[in-house]
Amino acid sequence: MIDTKREQNTQKKLINQDNRIAALKKQMVYYKEITETIREPFIILNKNLNVVTANLAFYRKFKVKKKDTEGKQIYDLGDSQWDAPELRVLLENILPSHRVLNNYAVTHSFPSIGTKTILLNARQVDSKQLILLAMEDVTTQWKLKIDSAEMTENLIKQRDQLQGLNDAKDEFISLASHQLRTPATAVKQYVGMLSHGYVGELTKEQLDMLGVAYRNNERQLEIIEDLLRVAKVDAGKVYLDKSSCDVVVKIEEAINGQSILFENRGQAVIFDKPDTKMIASIDPKLMLMVLENILDNAGKYSQEGKPVTITIHQNKTYTIITIKDHGVGIRKSDQKKLFKKFSRIDNPLSASVKGTGLGLYWAKKVLDLHEGSIKVTSSLKAGSTFEVVTPTAANSSSGD
Ligand code: ADP
Repeated sequence: MIDTKREQNTQKKLINQDNRIAALKKQMVYYKEITETIREPFIILNKNLNVVTANLAFYRKFKVKKKDTEGKQIYDLGDSQWDAPELRVLLENILPSHRVLNNYAVTHSFPSIGTKTILLNARQVDSKQLILLAMEDVTTQWKLKIDSAEMTENLIKQRDQLQGLNDAKDEFISLASHQLRTPATAVKQYVGMLSHGYVGELTKEQLDMLGVAYRNNERQLEIIEDLLRVAKVDAGKVYLDKSSCDVVVKIEEAINGQSILFENRGQAVIFDKPDTKMIASIDPKLMLMVLENILDNAGKYSQEGKPVTITIHQNKTYTIITIKDHGVGIRKSDQKKLFKKFSRIDNPLSASVKGTGLGLYWAKKVLDLHEGSIKVTSSLKAGSTFEVVTPTAANSSSGD
């Protein structure tokens, strides 16, 4: 009786054990399936750093076989390809004390796959005395990162070199212009003295020739002045001497200064003069030069007899001046070149009209310093309108 009971108990125990084994096997299959579906190489090591198991991705990536892997120490795998000093330190010293290792990059030369940068992530599972080690090949991303850092560094170097060359060029222009100004000014004085008969009467023919020399010398001096002005603004050496100033008066000064030129070409300058003052915070001298430049262009690039119209408007924030001509106009594609250095645009008058292509470049720089702006609207053969905008003085009694 007792024996039957014992037998029954043993039977029960055996069934229980079988059930547990079956459940554990099921669980094993489940975990194996999970590890196999992980696309990154993954191995599990025991406390002696022997491989308990590895996933398919590991075998594929590192070109090793299961039979040559399981049970082997990690350092002995695939021609000792994992026997790297860095990895030893990581697994033997760092991991035991930290238990977790995140994104630790190791660059190593693998005999089977070449030099690779592998990102290691590891966990130490104390209860099972196992180490889970995942490996991500980041060679391409790493190389891209290094390449783009190198490229950025090279670009910065190149930019600095170009900047250096540009500065040297500006300095050269400035220096050369300074050197040229003195002799050119002396020529002007001596040609003037000759023309005024300081050393005796001259024939008409001689006077005509001196006249040509004088005009060309004047032109030479104008070019030198343009170059010096641009060199100064480029070197950041133009400082505004601002004051609250009536812009209407500046416009009138610009018109009066060029009245003879306009009269000679039969061109009227129509100024839609407001009844009130229009005070703006500007550098009066520089702003006058900007206006003279634009007005000069309006006359130069218009045929004889074509009028130029000037308007001024003001609101609390801005003072806006427009200079409109009916001249040769500028095609759309050329308009963005206008404010660049040395840009002269071909038009029916540009062959006969003298210029350096520096005036509008300089004007824009000066307006930038004023925190203002300049823009153009134009159509070929119909004419151009230049709009100059500059901040209105804070204490102006603007009506708009
Ligand atoms: P410059 O007149 O000395 O050549 P600017 O910088 O003042 O230099 O002008 C640059 C170019 O823009 C001129 O060469 C000309 O082709 C064009 N331009 C400027 N103003 C006008 C205008 N009002 N009408 C047509 N073209 C113009």
